[in-house]
Amino acid sequence: MQFDVLTHPTPTSEQRRAEILADPGFGVNFTDHTAVIDWTAQNGWQNARVEPYGPISLDPAAAVLHYAQEIFEGMKAYRHSDGGVYTFRPFANAARMNKSAVRMALPELDEKVFVQALEELLAQDKEWVPTGEGEALYLRPFMFATEAFLGVRAAKEVTFRVIASPAGNYFGGELKPVRIWVSRDFARAAPGGTGDAKTGGNYAASLLPQQQAAQKGCDQVLFLDPLHDNAIEELGGMNVFLVTSDNRLLTPALTGTILEGITRDSVIQLAKDRGMQVEERRITLDEWDRGVTDGTITEVFACGTAAVITPIGELIDGEKTIASTGTGEVTQAIRDELLGIQLGTVEDRHGWMHKL
Ligand code: PMP
Repeated sequence: MQFDVLTHPTPTSEQRRAEILADPGFGVNFTDHTAVIDWTAQNGWQNARVEPYGPISLDPAAAVLHYAQEIFEGMKAYRHSDGGVYTFRPFANAARMNKSAVRMALPELDEKVFVQALEELLAQDKEWVPTGEGEALYLRPFMFATEAFLGVRAAKEVTFRVIASPAGNYFGGELKPVRIWVSRDFARAAPGGTGDAKTGGNYAASLLPQQQAAQKGCDQVLFLDPLHDNAIEELGGMNVFLVTSDNRLLTPALTGTILEGITRDSVIQLAKDRGMQVEERRITLDEWDRGVTDGTITEVFACGTAAVITPIGELIDGEKTIASTGTGEVTQAIRDELLGIQLGTVEDRHGWMHKL
C-alpha cells in the first residue's frame, strides 16, 4: 500500500527528545508521527499516510465513544548493536488483531499492511528508539469505529492508527516477584464473551478489580473461571505459567476466555526447546495451592510484552496467602533467553525478529 508522508512541521527538539529518552517512563511521551489508514464499508482501506502526531477530531456520535467498537495491539521495537531497529513477531500481532477485528465486527487489515504501517512510522521516528538496557519503543496499533451513528450495528467508517511511545526498563533490572490478588468478586470473561479479543472494554472492566488489588497491596489481579472449579485464567495483562518439580510447564489452555499472548506462545516454544513437557489445560487454584505446599510446583511466573517474564511471589486469596515460590531457575533461564533474542544478544533461531 502507498503511504503519503506528511512530516511534522515542528518536531520535538533534539534536546527535548534526549531528555525524554534519558527517563522514558511508560506510555507518557509519544513520537512525532502517527501512521493512519481509513476504512469505509464502500471503499475498503484507503488514504494510508504518516502524519504529525496530535489530537484527532472525532464526531461526538462516533460509534467508538458509545459502543466501544475498538481493538488494539501492543508490541516493542528494540535497537540492536548493529544499529538496526527490530520488532518481535509482528505478524503474530497482525494475525491477533484480525482475530479481534472479526469478534468486534471491525474490518480485517492485510497483515503485510499492518507491518508496513509500523515500518512507515519507524522510517520517520527511528531516533525515538531508546538505547538503554531493557528500554524499547512501545508500539500501539489500534482500530476504532469513527462513524457518526447511534444505531447499534457495525460501523461503516473505521480508522486504524499506530502510535509509538518510548518505554523505560519495566522492572529496573533485577527480577522482583510480584504480589497477585485473586479476584473473587469479578470475572474477566465468560465462554462466548470477548476474553480472547484485545478490545478496550476488557481493560475497562479490569480497572475496578485492579483498584481492589492495589488496596490490598498487590501489583496485579488474577482472574478465575468461576464456572469451572475456579480454574485460573490470566492476569489483567499477562498470561500465567507454573513450573513443576518434574520439568513440566503448565499453563491455562486457550479456550476463548483468555488472550492468546504472543509471549505465552514464545515461552511454550522455548520450554519445548529445553526439553520440557508443556501442558496446556485447566489448572485450578486448588492445584496451584496444593502444588506449592507439597513442593511439586516450584516456580510460577507471568508473561507479556510489557514486562516479558516476571516471577509471581505471593498470591493473596482473601485472608489466605499462597506461599511464595520466588524467582526460580527455569523462570530466569527462559526470561534471559527470550530477552536475549529480543535484544539481539541471543541467536534468533526461530526467526522471530523483524527488522523495521
Ligand atoms: N493477557 C492480557 C489480558 C493482555 O492484555 C496481554 C498483553 N497483550 C497478555 C495476556 C500478554 O500478551 P502478549 O504476550 O502478546 O503481550
